[in-house]
Amino acid sequence: MSAWQAFLRKHWMQRSWPAGKAFAWLVSLFGLAFAAQIFWLAGDQRQVLESSARLLNSTVPSTLEQFRLARNIEQLRLDGERVFSGRTPVARQQALFIVSLLSSHPAMLADRRTAALASEVETFLVQAAREGMSEQRYAEWDTLSNRLSLLADDFSIEGANLATDDLQLMATIMLHSQFKLALVLALVAVFLGGFLFLIHRHLIRPLQKMDKALNELRSGSALTPFSRASMAEIRAVEGAIGQLRDVMHENQKARQELHVLATTDSLTGMFNRRHFLALAEEEIKRAHRYARPICVGMADLDHFKDINDRYGHAVGDRVLQSISDLFGHTLRQSDWVSRYGGEEFAFMFTETTIEEAHRLAERLRQRTADNWIDLGDGSGLQMTLSLGLAEASKGSLEAALGRADAALYTAKKQGRNRVVIAGEATATPRKAVHESSDDLDLPVDER
Ligand code: GH3
Ligand code: MG
Ligand code: MG
Repeated sequence: MSAWQAFLRKHWMQRSWPAGKAFAWLVSLFGLAFAAQIFWLAGDQRQVLESSARLLNSTVPSTLEQFRLARNIEQLRLDGERVFSGRTPVARQQALFIVSLLSSHPAMLADRRTAALASEVETFLVQAAREGMSEQRYAEWDTLSNRLSLLADDFSIEGANLATDDLQLMATIMLHSQFKLALVLALVAVFLGGFLFLIHRHLIRPLQKMDKALNELRSGSALTPFSRASMAEIRAVEGAIGQLRDVMHENQKARQELHVLATTDSLTGMFNRRHFLALAEEEIKRAHRYARPICVGMADLDHFKDINDRYGHAVGDRVLQSISDLFGHTLRQSDWVSRYGGEEFAFMFTETTIEEAHRLAERLRQRTADNWIDLGDGSGLQMTLSLGLAEASKGSLEAALGRADAALYTAKKQGRNRVVIAGEATATPRKAVHESSDDLDLPVDER
């Protein structure tokens, strides 16, 4: 990256601008440029006004004056002609009288060239009238008449030129104004385009991104990271959204932790009694509503107190964890187990008849009995489990659990390490390997 790019990045791109201030600056800049151009245009307009005033007050009267003078000179020439061509002396005298009047007219005298030629013409005609007309006089008059015509033409042209100059000046100014106006319009268009572009890039797009981020927060999906906005206010809101996201994340984590704490047993990770009862209640209601088979069970480790007494409480805890893992691997997805008390467990077998539940309970009992619990020092032990089962398709959960508990009590009474179904007189036979002695209910160590 060049030094210039680094400078731009540091001082321009990375910087945040207060939106209000930034747009106020832009608008002021535009206002200044616009005002300057309007001022520029106003200069032209002033010039046009001055020119038209001049045309009205000075040029047009002067032009009319020139035209009038040209007409008088022409009249002087025509009357001079009549002095020569008059049929009667009276007519010639009248023409001479008009020539005298025209020659002494103040407008004729005001211009030096006209005054001199008019006086020359009058003197010539007076002399010609007095001395009589001749061919030579007429030839001289012809010259004078031509000079009068030329002078009249000069005044006509000058009069016309006066107006033409002013009109040309006005036309030039109008043309300049047109260019300037086009320039002003182009400036307005460029500014409006730029303004809309900046609004879209620095306000609308960041706002859309924030809207998306808020929607993501609401829906709980992962937040798309922001590219930092250049407007300070938007950056502040983006920061707040980021903080909100962190807080929400923390809250969610805390809620999940609380939920785990409230629903599970910390030692084994199994559902606790309260959560199990709540879930079981719902399941039983559903099963009753749809007349589906459902069973509950109660289990208790045999002679567990002896483990604590013999190996200590820590080993007892380890046994509970090991049994909990075993249950997890043995039960189906639809079966639920919870740590109901110290070393007592409650089960719920959904969509299960009592026969199926019995098979499952037997499997649990068997696997518990076969499970070798390694104590980590080369020694280990085995536990046995007594279970009581009850149908829960009818009646309350509490009653079903009571029946299962009574069956468990029976199993204990009948010698432990067995499954008893509530209401049935006999317990299922224990596995042959454990049947030989009551001692088999006791933990076996150092195998
Ligand atoms: P039975 O075959 O009749 O069930 O005999 P038992 O010794 O298992 O019966 P009892 O209910 O008298 O003993 C249960 C023992 O479980 C008592 C208590 O010290 C122990 N216990 C309860 N909760 C825990 C625990 O969280 N950890 C450990 N290590 N021991 C526990
Ligand atoms: Mg016990
Ligand atoms: Mg017990």
